[in-house]
Amino acid sequence: MIRANENYQKLKASYLFSDIARRVNLFQKDNPDARVIRLGIGDVTRALPPAIIKAFHKGVDEMAHDATFRGYGPEQGYAFLREKIAAHDYQARGANISAEEIFVSDGAKCDTGNFQELFANDIRIAIPDPVYPVYLDTNVMAGRTGDFEDGRYKKIVYMDCVKENNFLPRLPEEPVDLIYLCFPNNPTGTCATKTDLAAWVDYAKKNKALILFDAAYEAFIRDDSLPGTIYEIDGAREVAVEFRSFSKTAGFTGTRCGFTVVPKTCQVFLENGGAISLHDLWNRRQSTKFNGVSYPVQKAAEAVYSPEGQAQVKKLTAGYLDNADIICKTVEALGFDYAGGKNSPYIWVDGQGKDSWEFFDLLLHKAAVVCTPGGGFGRCGNPYIRISAFNSRDNVTEAMERFKGALK
Ligand code: PLP
Repeated sequence: MIRANENYQKLKASYLFSDIARRVNLFQKDNPDARVIRLGIGDVTRALPPAIIKAFHKGVDEMAHDATFRGYGPEQGYAFLREKIAAHDYQARGANISAEEIFVSDGAKCDTGNFQELFANDIRIAIPDPVYPVYLDTNVMAGRTGDFEDGRYKKIVYMDCVKENNFLPRLPEEPVDLIYLCFPNNPTGTCATKTDLAAWVDYAKKNKALILFDAAYEAFIRDDSLPGTIYEIDGAREVAVEFRSFSKTAGFTGTRCGFTVVPKTCQVFLENGGAISLHDLWNRRQSTKFNGVSYPVQKAAEAVYSPEGQAQVKKLTAGYLDNADIICKTVEALGFDYAGGKNSPYIWVDGQGKDSWEFFDLLLHKAAVVCTPGGGFGRCGNPYIRISAFNSRDNVTEAMERFKGALK
């Protein structure tokens, strides 16, 4: 008899974005003339920049001739891309990361979701609340979280990110083995300073723990005093893995490319007291289960690091940051407290006591604007909504005009 992985039964019944889609479809059916503006799901809207498209096309053309055709590539990614990443994203910032420590992938969702399978089933895991749901759900699927009761999984150590702590997770009071961090944060839009991250690195070293650091939104950081990578922190090479993505950096949400940094100095411990290389473990996992990212896509990603590519992606993220600024100014003028929106494409708006779905429905029905209810990211997200800056300037400006009418 084929039996199910019963852990899947512990997942919360509905996925946030399908719930949103259902409500929007219902609204659109009842209001066929309304032009709905979507500031909900964090997907980019602007085209791939020209330098990237040119390299992408060239990569496709190479596949059309026997002499330049490529079959299976290295599971870890082509050296031409790994070397550019190591040089530009790490060594240029003084972070000691080599090309062999970079694993190119089809995006940060898969890597942040898959990484947990390297660890024992009874480790203690600390996860922020609110959170990007992938960290939590993949651990539920693996059977590490226990049952879901009163809005929480019993075996997870939740780190509440609330106004009182500036939405920054505090060090857990009990020892944990695996820690998920994400900065700039989805959904709250907050950033951690070097001092904040240094405290985590210190904690991880003391507890022989590992930090999984998701830096998918690093490209939005404009404040040079903020860390662009966790490897700017002394000692992070021993205790941290970093996930990055070209999705928001360069408009690759549909093209798919990202990478994970696993330093050769990170160790994972065995029951018999021994230790093995985390890099070797991830390499083994990837070469068994993953067959690399397509050659044209890696050529397109490489072009992000050319001088033209760098200028064009900077302009792309600057456009979204300008949108974020417009959103921040509007919600502030309307008297709402918010976090994020600076060095981040997300604005986390306090609904002043309203349930987040109630706030979502109000904006949908009165302004025909879709946002994301904070409650979908965890219990602490409940009084908030997340507004995303990923849309055209015209749409963001119009959405904000509608906010003024709906929320005054
Ligand atoms: N990590 C965070 C925090 C995200 O918000 C997202 C996407 O929204 C991802 C990872 C996934 O990125 P990718 O498109 O590279 O899979």
